[in-house]
Amino acid sequence: MKKTAVFPGSFDPFTIGHEAIINRALSMFDEIIIAVGANALKKSFYPVDTRKEMINKVFQNEPRVKVDHYEGLTVDFCKKNGAGFLLRGLRTAADFEFERAIAQVNKEMAPDIESVFILTVPEHAHINSTIVRDIIRSGGDASRFVPSSVNLKDYYGDEGL
Ligand code: ADP
Repeated sequence: MKKTAVFPGSFDPFTIGHEAIINRALSMFDEIIIAVGANALKKSFYPVDTRKEMINKVFQNEPRVKVDHYEGLTVDFCKKNGAGFLLRGLRTAADFEFERAIAQVNKEMAPDIESVFILTVPEHAHINSTIVRDIIRSGGDASRFVPSSVNLKDYYGDEGL
């Protein structure tokens, strides 16, 4: 049976930390769906379509990676797409505590879906989308934190940068 994992997140924007988790997870799964959470109540920096476009660019030569967006429960998105695994990255003890609660609630709601965690490499432990966004907003060069195939100058965030 095909092993499909969903990698959910805001990806606002997608970073080299996210990219590394996907590249490592490709040895474990047949297909990975990167699912951009579209929360109408949560204000994002990049619009959902822009985030999807950036991620599609990164994996344009990797047919086993799909990019989609969703609203509602992550486990419902997994079921809809026949995915038995929920993939997440771990950087810190704080990440672990946060992820533990979500994974345990998800397990209760959807016992057939397994959460799988990949521990970040130390070089990426400090990289998070919030800091990357702040650098972009402040007019700094965030290119070293995003995949090399993404040229941040091609995309507009909510500050019109
Ligand atoms: P969320 O909005 O759900 O926190 P993010 O877009 O911040 O989602 O991240 C999605 C997933 O990628 C989460 O599991 C997060 O822990 C993981 N992640 C984010 N940055 C890194 C990184 N630098 N190294 C490893 N995993 C990361």
